[in-house]
Amino acid sequence: MAKVAFIGLGNMGGPMAINLVKAGHDVSAFDLSAAALAQVQAEGAKVASSAIDAVTGADYVISMLPAGKHVIGLYLGEQGIASAISKQALVIDCSTIDADSARKVGAGLAEQGIAFIDAPVSGGVGGAKAGTLTFIIGGTAADFENAKTVLGNMGKNLFHAGDVGAGQVAKICNNMLLSILMAGTSEALQMGIDNGLDPKTLSEIMLKSSGRNWTLELYNPCPDVLPNVPSSNGYQGGFMVDLMAKDLGLALEAATQSGSSTPMGALARNLYVTHQRAGNGKLDFSSIFKMFGKK
Ligand code: NAD
Repeated sequence: MAKVAFIGLGNMGGPMAINLVKAGHDVSAFDLSAAALAQVQAEGAKVASSAIDAVTGADYVISMLPAGKHVIGLYLGEQGIASAISKQALVIDCSTIDADSARKVGAGLAEQGIAFIDAPVSGGVGGAKAGTLTFIIGGTAADFENAKTVLGNMGKNLFHAGDVGAGQVAKICNNMLLSILMAGTSEALQMGIDNGLDPKTLSEIMLKSSGRNWTLELYNPCPDVLPNVPSSNGYQGGFMVDLMAKDLGLALEAATQSGSSTPMGALARNLYVTHQRAGNGKLDFSSIFKMFGKK
């Protein structure tokens, strides 16, 4: 079993670290939030006094932070931890960040002789808890193989997308599509409700029809259609609107760089940013459903 440092124990990182503990790894955890640390400590992780303390002597260093600036700051910032990481360690960043930041961190660590892969995830908090995440990896084939030792305990599907940064590109393509599906599913459900349909019945009909999709089936945005999803819990937990708005910004930056036409992605970003600015940033992204309801 490996010695693993885990930094960033929020909605996603917390359950991921707990799965590593359950698999028998020696996990040393660090987060700026004492409440986040307390949750993983209760499940058997060791709590480190700092990020440097956590990574000292680790075989694998895993980070799960909000955005690129946090990841760059953690590894390469003024109080960056790169110099405390063993040259034999593999650094795995699972955050969703822009590909350029991932490449910058990879290059900065490579200068110090440390291997790095970007490994953003899909599957949400449910997948993190169940250990069924999809990991989308950018890095060398050898580092991809090495990462399986720990990623296999947190996820079911591991994809090698290409070189460092490629995992992030694939991930934002996925999230752009996810946001479009969530907004489309929300407006269709609300139109059905406005015309006298029961949202549960309508969901059942569309699940057996051509409108079937992941948001409708597993993450229904209409309250009380499905149990144990954020919409049935006041849109708490899950994947925050702030994070979806961030990912859509990353997607549109990438589209601008590559000259790609992404009209639906641009519309979805504007919907999410409007929803965020209306004070919903900390709610789950399925709360976009509320935008379509009568006030
Ligand atoms: P979160 O805000 O719940 O957790 C982030 C954690 O990082 C917080 O506990 C915060 O205290 C900690 N943190 C921030 N800066 C830190 C630092 N310098 N050192 C130590 N800890 C630090 O966010 P989340 O929902 O867990 O998402 C994390 C990443 O995963 C994001 O990039 C997000 O886009 C991605 N993601 C989230 C989901 C989801 O469903 N929530 C799904 C897939 C991917």
